[in-house]
Amino acid sequence: MSDNKSGQVWPTFKRLWPFVRPYKQAFIVAVLAMAVYGGIDAALIYMLKPFIDNGLQPGDTEFLRWVPVFIVGMFVLRGSANFVSTYCMAWVSQHVIRAMRQTVFEKYLRLPVSFFDARPSGELISKVTYDTEQVSRASSGALVTMVRDGFTVVAMLAIMFWESWQLSSIIFLVGPPVAWVIAFVSRRFRNISKNIQAAMGGVTSATEQTLKGHKNVLAFGGQALEAERFAKVNNQNRQQNMKLAAAQAISQPAIQVIGSFALAAVFFAASFESVLHSMTPGSFVVIISAMMGLLAPLKRLTRVNAEFQRGIAAAQSVFSVLDEPDARDTGTQTLSSSQGKLTMENVVFSYPNSDGPVLKGIDLEVPAGKSVALVGRSGSGKTTLSTLLPRFYELDSGKIRLDGVDISELTLASLRQQIATVSQQVVLFNDSIANNIAYACEENVSREQIEAAAKAAHVMEFVEKLPDGLDTLVGEDGVLLSGGQRQRIAIARAILRDAPILILDEATSALDTESERAIQAALETLQQGRTSLVIAHRLSTIESADEIVVMDQGQIVERGSHAELLAKQGAYFQLYQLQFGEE
Ligand code: ADP
Ligand code: MG
Repeated sequence: MSDNKSGQVWPTFKRLWPFVRPYKQAFIVAVLAMAVYGGIDAALIYMLKPFIDNGLQPGDTEFLRWVPVFIVGMFVLRGSANFVSTYCMAWVSQHVIRAMRQTVFEKYLRLPVSFFDARPSGELISKVTYDTEQVSRASSGALVTMVRDGFTVVAMLAIMFWESWQLSSIIFLVGPPVAWVIAFVSRRFRNISKNIQAAMGGVTSATEQTLKGHKNVLAFGGQALEAERFAKVNNQNRQQNMKLAAAQAISQPAIQVIGSFALAAVFFAASFESVLHSMTPGSFVVIISAMMGLLAPLKRLTRVNAEFQRGIAAAQSVFSVLDEPDARDTGTQTLSSSQGKLTMENVVFSYPNSDGPVLKGIDLEVPAGKSVALVGRSGSGKTTLSTLLPRFYELDSGKIRLDGVDISELTLASLRQQIATVSQQVVLFNDSIANNIAYACEENVSREQIEAAAKAAHVMEFVEKLPDGLDTLVGEDGVLLSGGQRQRIAIARAILRDAPILILDEATSALDTESERAIQAALETLQQGRTSLVIAHRLSTIESADEIVVMDQGQIVERGSHAELLAKQGAYFQLYQLQFGEE
């Protein structure tokens, strides 16, 4: 039990401390105010003794006159202490939750792509929204109660022992069983809380999936299926919360019943003449009142324990993400502007979750300023190969060099600055078209540059018809635009980026033949003087490449010019007939 506690709770506390440290003054003020609060509660009970022993004696009315003033004064002080402690703790905990959210969010920006491949995004969202909130609740609500009532308990015990340590030692009889119950339920609370977090992740995931794919749900009549899927995770959440509520509801009365044994024992002991006569009626009342006074804080303590353990479990879930290794960025070299000579030497790569390599020994050289077209059946590894250049994944073996420098020796920022990608899946941010084109470089480019890029990518054609022109907002992930329009924005983005290496992964697949011709011209201009890796599905793009590389099942099976490969009548010839026969 104790090792379980020290094994889990203390390290978690220690890791929370750096988040609290910047606000430690407010934290200390809060704790002091809580001590005052607990002290006043104890003082009020201790006041009973002079009240009974002196005040209720005939002839001492002077003392009684001061009691009302004293009482009001104490309550004003107690109220102020309450305000200060609650306010300061809320202030600290809101800062802690903000800092934790920011830390987790920034961690997401540094984690490797494979981390996200392996986890549902709903779970990761719920860590930022739900889990951090639980930590904050535990620290503002639960921690206030624990510390404040903790002080009250200590003060009450102090009074009892001060009055009669013999009688008060009886309380230690119930200490061990109470401690055992608390330790037992605490562990249970934490375990259930972990399940609740998982269930919340499930709820977020299911909601997110349905919202993202809601047109598919409607089109395929998947409403009943989705509703059922959601009902399952929703109910899981309810079940776990009920388990928590049940454990909470049992632990509270259990501790009180155990406590009642102590109270009973004190009364029993007092029934002996010798004990009773060893103290004044005032002392006896104070001891009994202090014991009664213990019940309310103990009740609150057992209640907030659940919330507190929930916070601990949530903090552990947050820390588990923070413990994940960042994307490897140990390179130290930087390239201000590369020539763009690309070399791949025997590159072998497998996804962490795939069985067997997806790329099996790729050798490829793209001279600076030249273009290579990658063709091959779907699933042959073309996209995978292109994601290795910006180092989204680590190689199993082999080397990729840029201007002769191993790309793992470059800093990620410097390497990625050399590359502009137009990928199959265009991602737009909920912002204006202009800001989407100038994504992440808004500060460094002029409006004219954005317009020029937009013009070259034929974005202007449809933008001119929009009410706000380039400042039109595109909606979440660009829902207000067609596939072709989105792709043109992505092309404009690549044009503006002006990087020496260009990756075009079926960059024009969403365009009709008419617009494609126009944009193809723009892309050809863009390719001039740049090294480009073009994954193409249309003949026109392929023909103009300096070299064509045919991939199949993760290997390069043919390479050469269009004419050479056709003459060979091999894999390319087949592909050509299948894919481009109709053109
Ligand atoms: P292509 O672009 O040539 O159509 P891909 O490079 O996209 O092919 O895919 C190559 C293989 O890698 C496929 O078998 C695909 O299932 C697998 N694959 C692609 N992405 C992932 C991923 N993130 N995790 C695991 N396997 C993947
Ligand atoms: Mg692909």
